[in-house]
Amino acid sequence: MSYKIDNRAPDLRERMYFPEVIRGIGIASRHFFKNLFWSRDPNPEVIDRKRGSTASEVMTVSYPEEKQPYPPGYRGAHRLVPREDGKPRCVACYMCATVCPAQCIYIEAAEVEGDPIEKYPKKFVIDELRCIMCGFCVEACPKDAIRMDTGLHVPPSDTREAQVWDEKVLLGGPAISYESDPWLRRAAPGIPSDQLELMRERARPFPANAGDEYSQTPGFSVRTLADEAKARAGKP
Ligand code: SF4
Ligand code: SF4
Repeated sequence: MSYKIDNRAPDLRERMYFPEVIRGIGIASRHFFKNLFWSRDPNPEVIDRKRGSTASEVMTVSYPEEKQPYPPGYRGAHRLVPREDGKPRCVACYMCATVCPAQCIYIEAAEVEGDPIEKYPKKFVIDELRCIMCGFCVEACPKDAIRMDTGLHVPPSDTREAQVWDEKVLLGGPAISYESDPWLRRAAPGIPSDQLELMRERARPFPANAGDEYSQTPGFSVRTLADEAKARAGKP
């Protein structure tokens, strides 16, 4: 519904000016004292809070003690995706660090012992304070080794150092293997044979593009959103 502007001519009281000033001060004072002395509405959904109740109408959420529920499409902070043997899928190719517009990824590559080809990130650091959460690193990664599907907001801290996440903090979440993983298609001296078998059993095709099956956020579906948009537009 559009907002209607009251264009009527001011009446005598309004033209006298001071009664309206006093009325305005009264309204501002009422809100001020109500918000100062009354307790806040505990409903976490700010929009759903009842207007006109005796509860304070202060909208500020006291984060991090209070948290708003995130929308279903929220992806969250980074993680380094592990393999079944607990090592990172990352092969230290520097694609994510190269594409990062905030230049907040730092990687030091090292060679996997006994393997003439494979590399791994000896150091993998993301400065979450500089990160703008654009997700380019996730898109650029050819190994599906970095994801933003934790559903977590970077927690607040009193020090800058706590926001600089290294590989120990980043490595976690469900393990994943793909049939195309080079360590599954040739001898992988660094991986115990039982782990290698487990990886081969669980390996799945690498996605050609992002589809529902590989959607990174539980409950988030590009196809469903597209279908809903088509339905709204009345298209088949
Ligand atoms: S989300 Fe964007 S800014 Fe953050 S680390 Fe990845 S590429 Fe860099
Ligand atoms: S996370 Fe992916 S893009 Fe970044 S260095 Fe590792 S393999 Fe390369």
